[in-house]
Amino acid sequence: MITPDEPHWQSELAGSYTDPRALLARLGIPAEGLAAPGTASPFPMRVPESFVRRMRAGDPLDPLLLQVLHSPLEDLATPGYGPDPVGDLPARATASALHKYHGRILVIATGACAIHCRYCFRRHFPYGDFALRQSGLEDVLAYLARHPDIDEVILSGGDPLSLSDERLEPLLEALGALPQIRRLRLHTRLPVVLGQRVTAGLLNLLRRVEAAVVVVIHANHPNELDDGIRAHLRRLGDAAALVLNQSVLLRRVNDNTDALAELSQRLFDAGVMPYYLHQLDPVAGAAHFEVDDATALDIMEGLRACLPGYLVPRLVRERPGAPFKIPLEGAMRD
Ligand SMILES: *Cc1c(COP(=O)(O)O)cnc(C)c1O
Ligand code: SF4
Repeated sequence: MITPDEPHWQSELAGSYTDPRALLARLGIPAEGLAAPGTASPFPMRVPESFVRRMRAGDPLDPLLLQVLHSPLEDLATPGYGPDPVGDLPARATASALHKYHGRILVIATGACAIHCRYCFRRHFPYGDFALRQSGLEDVLAYLARHPDIDEVILSGGDPLSLSDERLEPLLEALGALPQIRRLRLHTRLPVVLGQRVTAGLLNLLRRVEAAVVVVIHANHPNELDDGIRAHLRRLGDAAALVLNQSVLLRRVNDNTDALAELSQRLFDAGVMPYYLHQLDPVAGAAHFEVDDATALDIMEGLRACLPGYLVPRLVRERPGAPFKIPLEGAMRD
């Protein structure tokens, strides 16, 4: 039920497409041969109209559509692709926090996302078991007290901005006020998926956080950043110390220099700096998105040849157990 005083972003989320046939009908694309699972799938399709509006009608290869539409290829088992590709489970520090890297922990603030990206590395994540509850926050605070070397907390998920401002506020206040915490980071795709999430209330909330707020958004293709989204991102930038973007390198979506160069240009126009370009995490169901390393390095060379250095993202791969995300450039090519 949508109540009249519910912020617009929440009603739009509630009305997301969850039926692939309805989405394809909306875009005027025939659904024949679509072997999509029903909405009972553990990772069903989910995409709000605001994101669909940026897809090209009639184009089954639209780069935004390919990110969200279930492919029959997802059901093929691929060697090397599993349920926990980056070793999240062994890195569990508290019921809701992962501690992999020096000085920062990542808190699973919620399991919910505004969009279900088919390549998501946490698509099999046991959120029911992890997502933060009240006692969970106390455990995180106790863990931080035992680890005074941690100076940054990352709220992730899921998508932390899928929580209402009322639920975010106590989290941001409690964590941001700890003297040891210098930076509070949000990993979120919501400002890109549904720009209206950047409400005046959210901006006020971010401005009140005592620690410096860093927001890392997630956009993969320049078509995700139309004029409206760029305006929302600029407002976000006014309230945060830094806004960065991470992308995943995805076959047929953004595996070419032109798309990624234009993405960097549009990010900069919106006050956002490119951060990471991730090589795909080998999560079961996503193998058809893989781009081989040689192609990835060629694309990076293309980006360096046409962009200022500060607009070139860092190509990285996460390896379970490694102390940081591993840069691919500079490694030996064979
Ligand atoms: C990716 C990640 C981080 C952040 O790494 P940065 O290199 O600082 O961006 C922190 N914790 C976990 C568990 C992560 O997966
Ligand atoms: S927004 Fe992020 S966490 Fe959510 S489905 Fe997409 S990749 Fe996964």
